[in-house]
Amino acid sequence: MVDLLSQYEKIKEEVDAGIRETIEQTAFINGPSVKLFQSELANYLKVKKVITCANGTDALQVAMMALDLQAGDEVITSNFTFIATVEVIALLKLKPVLVDVDPDTFNLDPKKIEEAITPKTKAIIPVHLFGQSADMDEILRIAKEYKLYVIEDAAQALGTNYNLAAGKQQKAGTIGTIGTTSFFPSKNLGCFGDGGALMTNNEELGEKIRVIVNHGSKVKYYHEEVGINSRLDTIQAAILRVKLQHLNSYNKARKSAANYYDALLAGYDQIQTPVRSANSSHIFHQYTLRIKTGKRDEIRQKLAEQDIPAMIYYPVPLSLQVAFLSAGYKKGDFPVTELLCEEVLSLPMHTELNNAQQEYIAEHLLKII
Ligand SMILES: *Cc1c(COP(=O)(O)O)cnc(C)c1O
Repeated sequence: MVDLLSQYEKIKEEVDAGIRETIEQTAFINGPSVKLFQSELANYLKVKKVITCANGTDALQVAMMALDLQAGDEVITSNFTFIATVEVIALLKLKPVLVDVDPDTFNLDPKKIEEAITPKTKAIIPVHLFGQSADMDEILRIAKEYKLYVIEDAAQALGTNYNLAAGKQQKAGTIGTIGTTSFFPSKNLGCFGDGGALMTNNEELGEKIRVIVNHGSKVKYYHEEVGINSRLDTIQAAILRVKLQHLNSYNKARKSAANYYDALLAGYDQIQTPVRSANSSHIFHQYTLRIKTGKRDEIRQKLAEQDIPAMIYYPVPLSLQVAFLSAGYKKGDFPVTELLCEEVLSLPMHTELNNAQQEYIAEHLLKII
């Protein structure tokens, strides 16, 4: 699905030098590269504060801790996403309220958000899925009307541009109250292990987040609140500093690969190629088709026989995950998510794809269909 080795080989010297420098400085925890990377990422995103942490799941947890959400508060999020989002909601004893998605963009359907709001609702977590921003204009409007926080999960959308109705362009993850992201190796900006970050334009919140990720402490061994230990390793920060300089070109490479898939796969009713939203750029964290023949799993199997990997993100709606059955959702509650879970198929997508590989993939996919 990805080719991280070929990508590494092109930046090997710089990356290796950063790793070596960290080791020689023995600056493993909160070393100079961590601070530099935080400010470089803040510059790139044009956001006031970036606070790194250990992974994208922690980033979501810390965001909810920083907003002082209390047990029983309701948090609205997408039913069609990775488990991390609802996992931390549940972990903090908050109540996840799932909402169905748009069948074309796979992102939260704003109309359904409004229907899910109750007096206990405190926050909305849009997940910018597969590389496209959710409909932030509508989400901000709803959040303002009902006085809700917005935590943007930008783990799959680092570098995505969103055009606000007011005419301003902002990076996904910097529009709501807090944004979160992940540097998991296969993400668009990935390190060589785990990593994550939070973004905010609210300086006070930024300060609070910094305290929470550091054991609730501003001054060593003095603890003002209950925090956690969640840090980005200096070695990972050194790698990310190098890769951040290439993020725009990485995202561009994914986009041109997506355009080429689109061209190769155009004109077949059996498959729906990714639909581009009107207000968001697409950085193609995933290139996800909808297979309309009802034979997605068979097609995936036959692709595998030709050594073509294809993945299902995601096979089960969060509403039907065994871990959350106690929430009382049942089959039929989320028709769009349930259909997508049966139809979606993601093709290999990364920065090193070449035309010949894509032609091989498309040719076999079309033959199978
Ligand atoms: C990857 C991902 C996360 C979690 O990131 P980790 O760094 O693996 O904890 C959260 N949300 C979404 C949408 C993701 O894709």
